[in-house]
Amino acid sequence: MANSEFDTIAAISTPVGEGGISIIRISGEEAVAVAKKLYHGSKDLAKVATNTINYGHIVDPDNGAEVDEVMVSIMRAPHTYTREDVVEINCHGGLLATNRILQLTLSHGARLAEPGEFTKRAFLNGRLDLSQSEAVMDLIRAKTDKSMKVALNQLDGDLSRLIKALRKDILDVLAQVEVNIDYPEYDAVEEMTTKMLKEKAQEVQQRIQALLKTAKQGKVLRDGLATAIIGRPNVGKSSLLNTLLHEDKAIVTNVAGTTRDVIEEYVNVEGVPLKLIDTAGIRHTEDTVDKIGVERSRQAIDTADLVLLLIDSSNALTNEDRELIKLTAGKPRIVILNKTDLPNRIDLNELRQLTAGDRVIKTSIVEHEGMEELGRTISHMFFDEGIESSQNTVMVTNARHIGLLHQANDALNDVLSGIAAGMPVDLVQIDMTRCWELLGEITGDSYQDELLDQLFSQFCLGK
Ligand code: GDP
Ligand code: ZN
Repeated sequence: MANSEFDTIAAISTPVGEGGISIIRISGEEAVAVAKKLYHGSKDLAKVATNTINYGHIVDPDNGAEVDEVMVSIMRAPHTYTREDVVEINCHGGLLATNRILQLTLSHGARLAEPGEFTKRAFLNGRLDLSQSEAVMDLIRAKTDKSMKVALNQLDGDLSRLIKALRKDILDVLAQVEVNIDYPEYDAVEEMTTKMLKEKAQEVQQRIQALLKTAKQGKVLRDGLATAIIGRPNVGKSSLLNTLLHEDKAIVTNVAGTTRDVIEEYVNVEGVPLKLIDTAGIRHTEDTVDKIGVERSRQAIDTADLVLLLIDSSNALTNEDRELIKLTAGKPRIVILNKTDLPNRIDLNELRQLTAGDRVIKTSIVEHEGMEELGRTISHMFFDEGIESSQNTVMVTNARHIGLLHQANDALNDVLSGIAAGMPVDLVQIDMTRCWELLGEITGDSYQDELLDQLFSQFCLGK
């Protein structure tokens, strides 16, 4: 079969491994025909109604060998994920059977799907817009409930709706400008047009900037907050790490594509995903304890968005403490005064002076004291009112969207400076149109045709 944009594709759509059930998904015009060649059961898959699940077996047509007992879902276009015919073969999930079935679909009319190709088809076939397709990918990698919610909202089209509303506003004003330009003989019209453009540019810019403000939070939710646990030996770094890891269902991911196998550990603290930096350095064995000194900390501090600086309250401050306080001074930092279950031997006044302005949280990690306050503090530091209040806002989490919003903002700056410099309206209009196009790239809307269509449908120019 030719490798074209809309041939029939197949892939395993559940995580590969020893799961309970695996699903092989097929999409395209030939999806049902491919499944039919491999399926033995009481039904004729070509004739069953849409959205039915059919019990049977997968049999290798070439030798009659039974591969697995299966349930086959038939979903007919257009009400499917890709808007094409989709077949899902649910099998028992052993690696061998799953692969064998996939291979059979490939040797009987399907082609192996590229990564994300089902979603790409959903976009190309108009089911999802671009930002929604991207949300699907975010959803797959979402690390906390909160990031899941943001991705779900985006999938639901919140961001798209907002962007589309902005674009419509711009388009209305552009259409108005277009009409007014046809009457250049009236100075009053030119003046009015300029005023209108300026007001609209300012209004749209405000809304874009509000969106950009959420980007920082969005980035944290999407990528995790790079967090360094810092402190001299024996203050409780490993204990804190272990407490975080055990309490909060750590997600350990292997970052592919790096030459070294970098292990990233994520923990969910009050809905904020923390990406813990250099945990290898903290997971010590006795003989490495001494090496986790200032040098190693320096690197971790450099890459951190947040520093958790541990101080031992049961001992007087040491010079190493003082040095680490200095080293981390420029970073968003929470000072954790640990071992408060032991008698206090630290000069709190000196500590307050050295860490002026920073939050100091008292903990006894071994007795699980202060951990909740730590979580709340982190959440408030990165989400003004804590994480819950940002529940209903649209957040921008995607780097491509953020880049486009910045460019759209720049275009509006050009509009405003053009107006201030007394540039002719038809030149200012060009920057406004650019802003509109850039926003359109977020949702993947095609623009040229749309602009013309809307211009002509809204205004009968009568020429
Ligand atoms: P690290 O060298 O900074 O990683 O410190 P560890 O986490 O290995 O802790 C050093 C020692 O301090 C261990 O024996 C811990 O059990 C102990 N420790 C950690 N936190 C506390 C605490 O809050 N109270 C008390 N009493 N001991 C603690
Ligand atoms: Zn340790």
